[in-house]
Amino acid sequence: MISLAHSPNADSSGLPFTPYSKGGGQPLWRDALDVDIEADVVVVGGGIAGVSTALHAQLAGLKVVVLEGKEIGWGASGRNSGHVPAATRQEPSTIMKSFGPIHGRRIIDASREAPDRVFALAEKYGMDVQAVRAGSIQAGHNGPAVEKLRRRVEDLRVLGHEVRFLDADETADLVGCANGFYKGAVFDPRAGTFNPLAYVRGLARAALKEGALIFERTLVHALERSDDKWLAKCTGGSVRARHAVVCTNGYSADLLPRLWRSVIAIRAYQFMTEPLPADVRKTILPEGQGFTDTRRMMSGIRVHTDGRLHFSGIGPLFGPEREPNIDASMSRIREMFPQLGSLAFDYWWSGWMAMNQEHSWKIHEIEPRLLAVLGCNGRGVGLATIYGRELADYMTGKPAADLVLPLQPVEPIAVHPLRRPLVSALATGYRIMDALETSTPRPKKRPSMKADQQGQSGLGSTKASK
Ligand SMILES: Cc1cc2nc3c(=O)[nH]c(=O)nc-3n(C[C@H](O)[C@H](O)[C@H](O)COP(=O)(O)OP(=O)(O)OC[C@H]3O[C@@H](n4cnc5c(N)ncnc54)[C@H](O)[C@@H]3O)c2cc1C
Repeated sequence: MISLAHSPNADSSGLPFTPYSKGGGQPLWRDALDVDIEADVVVVGGGIAGVSTALHAQLAGLKVVVLEGKEIGWGASGRNSGHVPAATRQEPSTIMKSFGPIHGRRIIDASREAPDRVFALAEKYGMDVQAVRAGSIQAGHNGPAVEKLRRRVEDLRVLGHEVRFLDADETADLVGCANGFYKGAVFDPRAGTFNPLAYVRGLARAALKEGALIFERTLVHALERSDDKWLAKCTGGSVRARHAVVCTNGYSADLLPRLWRSVIAIRAYQFMTEPLPADVRKTILPEGQGFTDTRRMMSGIRVHTDGRLHFSGIGPLFGPEREPNIDASMSRIREMFPQLGSLAFDYWWSGWMAMNQEHSWKIHEIEPRLLAVLGCNGRGVGLATIYGRELADYMTGKPAADLVLPLQPVEPIAVHPLRRPLVSALATGYRIMDALETSTPRPKKRPSMKADQQGQSGLGSTKASK
């Protein structure tokens, strides 16, 4: 029987075995906390946001302790798709409208900066993150979506950011999907892809190198005031610190109920095929871009350097981990790429992402010096890095008004108790609408890709680093 009250933290305590495991380096093997200690900052959660906060706060001169309930990277950070986008989930025009010209501009600029920041940190601390900086493509599945993408290109260019609109033929060539499946796309040269497990472990090692303490298998079960400090209580010990930072994102269920109700955590699925045959491989994203589209249900796709096709799948959005809907996931990807034939997949796994109505990360000061950052909405590897740095800046005296994201009150989502039936019904509706809006592709005109003919399409070169 499936528990209605399944907490993301109740998922299997090991990281799933995926191709990331091989290139992800060794786990950190940190001890569990078994003493009472004092620090300047206690960080709860050892994902990218937590360890980025720790690294930057330590670099700024604070003494930091990270408490991770399972192991570093166990949450979304060690099991995501590995796209490093230079964008938030919101359109630039929506960001400017919602946050105003000052914060809006900062949010857009910070997200544009995010991949550079991620790859610079990887280089500085010698992380082997298997980076590919070939940019990203987001394709529009129908007319209105393509118009939105066109506007995005215009808006970003006005702000001085270089992105390019691709017409339907260029999109088909660069993505390798059936011709006519997409009506146009945005190419963003700043984005990349990488191994996120290697990155989060590398960031944690960097924080250790700078003097932070990290404890694993250390679930914080209470955060309480203790005089003018915060006390993080765990089974084996506690940390008393001037600042507490909660970085538990989609795994926030058990600690601060109000914070948990401010996001809806959904389970997202990843699939990876066996290596594609060489003739098929050269037809799908041959230049190495990370790919998404504008359909409502997620569609992250990339081809790894060993030729495996990695894509988002479909499965139950809530409850304990169960087998995803393999037939629906495979037929969705085959619909895009009929050339896949009967190719099998080798891996699937899942993780939790925190969604909210605004599709935006939020930083909260829940009480004085009790901070939280969450709400990745599926775009987090770069922004979690940036917002970790921001939290460190704030704790070392940067005025709130100068932060990228304004501090916001925690606002629980009214329908949170009904999220399972409501979101599941919404997802079914979205799938139907996606299917209705995606026209039947014309037969392909391939092989005629520029990449086949010229070796490159001219968008940018695929650089595999390290
Ligand atoms: C399947 C999937 C695919 C995704 N793909 C992409 C992508 O391609 N690109 C992208 O930019 N973003 C992607 N995302 C989002 C991205 O992974 C997240 O934004 C990012 O990893 C969030 O990092 P975090 O540190 O905030 O949270 P997490 O990495 O989720 O870390 C939270 C941590 O908190 C710990 N924790 C929880 N409660 C406690 C407690 N009480 N005490 C101690 N520890 C606790 C958990 O064990 C966990 O390790 C994806 C997410 C998923 C799930």
